[in-house]
Amino acid sequence: MLDVLENEAELKNLPFISCETCTSHGSPMNVYCFDCKMVICSSCVDQDHKSHKHSDVSKTSDDLREQLQKDLTSISSRKSNSLQLKEKVETDHKQFIKQIEESEKVVLNRCEDLKERVDRFKEMVLQEQAILKQQIIQDLDKRKREIESYVAVYNNYEECTRNLMERGSASDICLSFAKLHDRAIKLQQVHEPVADGMSLSVFNIRVGFALIGSSPLPVPLLS
Ligand SMILES: [Zn+2]
Ligand SMILES: [Zn+2]
Repeated sequence: MLDVLENEAELKNLPFISCETCTSHGSPMNVYCFDCKMVICSSCVDQDHKSHKHSDVSKTSDDLREQLQKDLTSISSRKSNSLQLKEKVETDHKQFIKQIEESEKVVLNRCEDLKERVDRFKEMVLQEQAILKQQIIQDLDKRKREIESYVAVYNNYEECTRNLMERGSASDICLSFAKLHDRAIKLQQVHEPVADGMSLSVFNIRVGFALIGSSPLPVPLLS
């Protein structure tokens, strides 16, 4: 293809004979030598081209003109095909640009939509967590205060019992034994609050539900 295009320059300098008489013999140039591809005069034929294939210029030119016309028709048809093809490529180009621009718009809209969904999801989960956080912290504080009140009761019992044992006489001990011992039995029967970490496990379960269950993110598929 490139070779063809490069050699094209040769065609632009086709010779046009200005003098129709032979410069060597002064006779009219009316013979074409096929071997040498030259136009010559009849004296030239006798001199150098006797054994060559030659013919009358005007008769040969009619034949060649016919062939040139055939070539011209064929090339013109090719040119017309090329022009049609070019038009098709240009149409494809425009169509492709339009399609790719539409596709870009779809991608941008989709991304915008996903971003909004992610933001809404984030806000919702954080809100749920904030409510849960408040509930659980209140619950833990309540438990702490409960336990502290038990500890205060135990402290009081310890102090009274130790005080009696250290300072009390034999009669004092006998007198107060029943009261202190009954108290000890009652205290041992009390159900203490158990540190079972229940609030935290409830928290984990609820957060887990929030993440799995609430408005799952759509898979970003382009259709
Ligand atoms: Zn001549
Ligand atoms: Zn010749």
